[in-house]
Amino acid sequence: MVSRELIARHCICCGGGNLEKSPAVLMPFVALRVFGHEPVEITEDWGLRDLRQGMAYTLCNSLQCQNCGALFLDYRFTDEQMEALYRNYRDELYNEQRIRFEPGYANVPPHYHQRANYLCEVEAWLAPYLPEAPAVLDFGGDSGINSLFREHNQLLHIHDISGVELVPGAERADLERIRQCHYDLVTCSQVLEHVPYPLDFVKQMLPALGTGSLIYVEVPHEALLRAHPGSLQLATCKRHWHEHVNFFTESSMRVLLESLGLVVVDVLHLPVDIGWTQGEVMGLLARQA
Ligand SMILES: [Zn+2]
Repeated sequence: MVSRELIARHCICCGGGNLEKSPAVLMPFVALRVFGHEPVEITEDWGLRDLRQGMAYTLCNSLQCQNCGALFLDYRFTDEQMEALYRNYRDELYNEQRIRFEPGYANVPPHYHQRANYLCEVEAWLAPYLPEAPAVLDFGGDSGINSLFREHNQLLHIHDISGVELVPGAERADLERIRQCHYDLVTCSQVLEHVPYPLDFVKQMLPALGTGSLIYVEVPHEALLRAHPGSLQLATCKRHWHEHVNFFTESSMRVLLESLGLVVVDVLHLPVDIGWTQGEVMGLLARQA
């Protein structure tokens, strides 16, 4: 079992200790929200005899596991830091701070309030494995706007700590309630790339799985990994980190699920048009052994 390291020394997916390391910067927006750091110029006035002058940014390391290929930021944020990073996610202050460091963010369309258009393809891929109207738990599902089978379910439970208002038809479920319900499908989409301890996060979902339940875990298949399939030399290619602190390979996702006693049933690689860029999502469907 991987322990909770604040600066990772082991792989976040397989626990392996053979990590390739390379320096990188934490992007100023994240560094500000998490650590309260601002980029600063070291000038002559600082009077530092042994340091070179110039811009200083928050330094970090890119780590790549030489066993499973997972590529990740070395900093593992605490609960408090995660709360600081995602507080009032994409509200006015958030957007203002972010545009100050990343002027291009102003041009990102306000698509976050609309349902993502690729979800019907994911539903079509999952449908043969499920009853006509499945009972669904969306773990980390926010308002439920992007919950799978939102329009076609027997029940839709959302487990999310954000406390936002849910879409019509969805019900909030805490860990206690989850334990007592039967779900055909438990989903966790576009969450694990943000969380410090993905293995622990998925572990929390296991009590929701009963006989015949399936679990669907979806993450972005990042462009850097797609461009270099199977490469274990990517730490030096990853020079900056933003909100996605974990880049998963298919084998890292497999090993993560298998180490929790799950059996991978099928894997989806789906090209998606996410508005301003072409991407790909990777979804793994699994069940209990
Ligand atoms: Zn690994």
